[in-house]
Formats: sequence, structure tokens, C-alpha cells
Amino acid sequence: MARVKAGGDGPPVAEMIPARPTIRKIRDTAQGCRACHLYRHATQTVFGEGPSKAEVMLVGEQPGDAEDLAGHPFVGPAGRLLDRALAEAGIDRRIVYVTNVVKHFKFEPRGKRRIHAKPNGAEIAACRPWLETEIALVKPRVLVCLGATAAQALLGRSFKVSQQRGRFVGSPLAPRVTATVHPSSILRAPDDDSRHREMAHFVADLRRVADELQ
Ligand code: SF4
Repeated sequence: MARVKAGGDGPPVAEMIPARPTIRKIRDTAQGCRACHLYRHATQTVFGEGPSKAEVMLVGEQPGDAEDLAGHPFVGPAGRLLDRALAEAGIDRRIVYVTNVVKHFKFEPRGKRRIHAKPNGAEIAACRPWLETEIALVKPRVLVCLGATAAQALLGRSFKVSQQRGRFVGSPLAPRVTATVHPSSILRAPDDDSRHREMAHFVADLRRVADELQ
């Protein structure tokens, strides 16, 4: 595989993946990943978590501030909203593996705060073999992209979450593949009415996932 220029000073991810990978092995190996520059300012690698043979895999963009500090995905405000939405949709959180396209937190410092910054194509490409290996090992029945970054990374750059959310699309990634918004977008809703509306839409998308598991 060609080296991806993403400013790292370690070997590319494809060269780090063990010959007989397991989720535990790749999670441990990824802790030392320096394949792109994002490791330099983040606290730690935040790898995917959940059952190694989960029925559902949710793929977000990258860990946020809380996740970076805790070392676990979807544990901050967006993760708590996701947990509520999964419960409302009737999806048992224990059958769900959660991960991100990029495993280190990318941010811009603003005073004492760290403001989320969107990962670029080179960073996504550099990190991608971790995600591809997670998908290959977990083999979820249903894969759900959360937000445009995950959807465009996995379903193509022309994928429009706003227009195509909640629909299942043909993909070699899993038997059933779909996309919806990232829960953080619901937290950014400008007022309570739109936040409730967005939450209801998100839960409706997840109910379609729950139907696939019957
Ligand atoms: S973001 Fe991904 S590729 Fe870059 S250093 Fe972190 S784990 Fe490695």
C-alpha cells in the first residue's frame, strides 16, 4: 500500500496491523500509532469498543474532547445522547460496537478550550486501515455511519447524509449499511424545538436499524 502523507513519523497503519489480528491486538497496537501528525497533540488513541462480534457497528468521525481524556469512544455529551437514542429505538447497547474513522482527537486551541476540527482526507486515509480491520474482524450485520465524515469516507464522497439518511445502501462493508447524523449535530441545534425534532428523526433512523435485527 502506498504511504499516505499525513505528517506522521511512524510506520503506516497497514504495516502495524499484526499478522493474525484480533480486536484486542489491534487496539493495543494502535496505542502506539504515529502514522499521522494527530497523535502529537492528542492525549491518547481512542480505539473502538464493544463486543468483538457485535451485531451493529456505529462509526463516527473522531473522538471528542471528553473521549480524548477518557480514552473511550462516545462517552461525552454526544455519547450520552447516543445512548438515549439507542434505548428509545430499542437497540441494546450491549450488542453495539462503537468506533470512529479517525482515532485521535483533532482540535484547535482557543484559550483554555479545545475546539473540534474536522479531519482532512490525508488523516482519514492514514487511519483507515484500523477501521477496515475493525469491520473485517467484527463483521457486523448492520453498519451505521454517523455523520457526513464517516458516510463520505465509507460510502463515497458524493453521499449526502441530509438526503440519504435512514436508507440502506448496497456496500461490501456489511450485509446492511446505512447512515444518519452524528449525535453531536443534535446537541448543536439552535433551540429546544429543533433539538427535539432532530432527536426524533435520529431515533426513527435507528429504529430502522432495530427492525433489521429482528
Ligand atoms: S489518527 Fe489514526 S493514523 Fe493518525 S496517529 Fe492516530 S491512530 Fe494513527
